[in-house]
Amino acid sequence: MENFTLNNGAKIPSIGVGVWRIDDAEIAYNTIELALSLGYRHIDTAMIYGNEEAVGKAIKDSGIAREEIFLTTKLWNDDQRSGRVMEAIDASLERLGMDYVDLYLVHWPVKETYVSVWKKMEEVYKSGKAKVIGVSNYQPHHLDDLLQVAEVVPAVNQIECNPYLSQEAVIEYCKGKGIYPEAWGPLGAGKTDLLIDPVLTGIAKVHGKSAAQVVLRWNLQRGVIVIPKSVHEARLIENLNAIDFTLTADQMKQISNLDKNLRLGSHPDNFDF
Ligand code: NAD
Repeated sequence: MENFTLNNGAKIPSIGVGVWRIDDAEIAYNTIELALSLGYRHIDTAMIYGNEEAVGKAIKDSGIAREEIFLTTKLWNDDQRSGRVMEAIDASLERLGMDYVDLYLVHWPVKETYVSVWKKMEEVYKSGKAKVIGVSNYQPHHLDDLLQVAEVVPAVNQIECNPYLSQEAVIEYCKGKGIYPEAWGPLGAGKTDLLIDPVLTGIAKVHGKSAAQVVLRWNLQRGVIVIPKSVHEARLIENLNAIDFTLTADQMKQISNLDKNLRLGSHPDNFDF
C-alpha cells in the first residue's frame, strides 16, 4: 500500500475505506473486520455516521497493532456550533475505545464558526488526541480565512471529488498551501452513471481494469487520497487494487475533461445541517 506524507510528517495510506451509511453496527463491524483482513489500513468514519463504536471494536479485535492503522473521524456541526470540540473528540475516543485518532476533521465549514473552530482543533492537536488535524468541505475562501488565524496548517481537506466533479481549483489551492486533498464520494457515491461512462470503460479495457479502478487511479495519480466505500468483498478488493497500473498523461487528461461540476452532495457555501 502506497503512503502519502502529510505536512507534519505523518503517513497516510493513499486508499482508505469509507463507512458512511453503514448504520447497522454488525455490518459496520463485519466490513471493517473484512477490510482489515484484505489489507486496508486506513478507515474513514465520523461521529455522525453512528458507527464509531463498531469500527473501534473491529480494529481492536483484529489484533493489528494500533499504530499500523490510520483512523479518521470528524467533528460534527452541532459540536462545532456549541464550541464543545474537546468534549466531542473525547466522546468519539470513548466510543472508539482509543486514546487517539490519526486524523480529526472539521466535517463542514459552518458559516459562523469555521474559523474560530480551528483554534479549538489546534488544542486537540496539542493534546495528542489527534495525530493530525484537518478540514472537510472547505472552499479556498474558507481556507484563506482559516489560515489567517492558524498556527497549525490543516494537513488534509476532504472534499467531494470524482471525474464529474474534478475540483481542480480547490486541489491546486490546497497543494499550494501544503494541504493534502482527499476525495469523498470518489466513485460518484453510486448515484451517477460515472462508472459506465464510455471514456472510463474504454480506458479500463486498455488496462484490463474496471472503471472504478480507473477513477480511483486518476485521483491517486494526481496526488489525491481516496476513501471509497463498499461492504462487499469483491469491491473492497477491487478498490484496493487501483495501484498496480499507470494511466498515461493523455488518459489523465481525457478523464479530467469529463468534469461537469456535478455535485451530488451539498454545496459547502449552502448547506442546512
Ligand atoms: P463512494 O463514491 O465511495 O461510492 C460508494 C458506492 O459506490 C457504494 O455504496 C457502491 O454502491 C459503489 N461501489 C463501491 N465500490 C464499487 C466498485 N468497485 N464498483 C462499482 N461500484 C462500487 O461514495 P461515499 O460512500 O459517499 O464516499 C466514500 C466515503 O467518503 C464515505 O463512506 C465517507 O467515509 C466519506 N464521506 C465524507 C463526506 C464528508 O462530508 N466529508 C461526505 C460523504 C462521504
